[in-house]
Amino acid sequence: MRKRIAESTQKRVILAGAGLVNAEIGDALVKLGIPVTYVISSDRALSQIVDREASVIIEKLFAGLDVELLKGEDIQEIEEKDGALEVKLASGKVLSGSCVVYGKGVRPNTGFLKGTGVQLNKGVVLGRYLETSVPGIYGAGDAVETDDILLGEKTLHALWPVAVEQANNAAGNMLGMEMPYGGDVLRNILMVFGQTIFTGGISTHDEGDVYRNVSDGEYSKIIVKDGKLRGFVFVGEGAVNPGVYLRMMRDQTDISSMINPVLHGTIAHADLYPSVFKVAL
Ligand SMILES: Cc1cc2nc3c(=O)[nH]c(=O)nc-3n(C[C@H](O)[C@H](O)[C@H](O)COP(=O)(O)OP(=O)(O)OC[C@H]3O[C@@H](n4cnc5c(N)ncnc54)[C@H](O)[C@@H]3O)c2cc1C
Repeated sequence: MRKRIAESTQKRVILAGAGLVNAEIGDALVKLGIPVTYVISSDRALSQIVDREASVIIEKLFAGLDVELLKGEDIQEIEEKDGALEVKLASGKVLSGSCVVYGKGVRPNTGFLKGTGVQLNKGVVLGRYLETSVPGIYGAGDAVETDDILLGEKTLHALWPVAVEQANNAAGNMLGMEMPYGGDVLRNILMVFGQTIFTGGISTHDEGDVYRNVSDGEYSKIIVKDGKLRGFVFVGEGAVNPGVYLRMMRDQTDISSMINPVLHGTIAHADLYPSVFKVAL
C-alpha cells in the first residue's frame, strides 16, 4: 500500500466496511498521516461487534482526525483515472483514492463442497468431535461452524485461539483419542483511534438484564441472564483483566453478587476463585 499511496495522485484510502480489520487499517493509516474514507452499508461503525451506544462513542473518536464516514453506502464501481482510483458509490457519489481496502467480514469459500454430503451453513458445520457430516472428514478454523457456548448454536468464530484449539482436538480425534470440543464464545479486543474496544458474547444489542455505565467518552455495558454473564462491551480503559471476562462467559460463572466490579472492569481472577487464591497464599 505504501508504494501505491506514494505513486498515486490522490493519497486518501477508501475503506469498504468499518469492522475489525478496517478499524485497525484506518487507525494505522491515520497515524501515518494518510486520510481515510469509510464506506459502510450499515448506519453505524463496528455494527458487527458493538451496540448503537458504543458506535456513537467510537464515531466521536473520528472527530479531529482525517477520517470520513459515509453510512448507508456501497461501492458499485472502481476505475483507474488520472493516476488514482475513481470509486463510484450506490448513491451516485464519486470518491477518489489511492487504494480500496475491503474489510467485510469472514465468508468461507465452501462452494467446492456443495454436493459432497458435507453439511454447510455459513461455513462447514462440525459436530462435537470436529467431524463433518461425512465420516472421516474433519475441520478447524475460519472455515467451520462449531458450538457457541452462549448463543447455543453453531457459529463461525473466526478467531486464532479458537482455530488452534479446534485443530488440536480435530487432530486428536483423527488419531482416535476422543477429544470432544466444548465450543467457545465470540470476543474481540482492538486498540484503535486512541481507545481500547473490548467485546464478547452478545454485544450488538440488548437482552436480559442490561447494566450500563457511560462517563467521559468511555462506555461499559454488561448483559446478564439468570446471574450469568452473556455479553459485554467496553470502550475505553474499563476492563483491566480481559481474560477474566472470557473465563466468566466460558464457565458461565454466577456473577449476581459481582455486578459492580464486572461492570466497572475491576473484577479479577481472585474474585472468581477466592478459596483457591486463599489456599495458594
Ligand atoms: C487482518 C486480520 C487480523 C486478525 N486479527 C486477529 C486477532 O487479533 N486475534 C485473533 O484471534 N484472530 C485474528 N484474526 C483471525 C485469525 O487470523 C484467524 O482466525 C486464523 O488465522 C484462522 O486460521 P485458519 O488456519 O482457519 O485460516 P488461515 O490462517 O487463513 O489459513 C488458511 C490457509 O489455507 C490456505 N488455503 C486457502 N485455500 C486453500 C486451498 N484451496 N488449498 C490449500 N490451501 C488453501 C491459505 O492460503 C492459508 O494459508 C485476524 C485476521 C485478519 C485477516
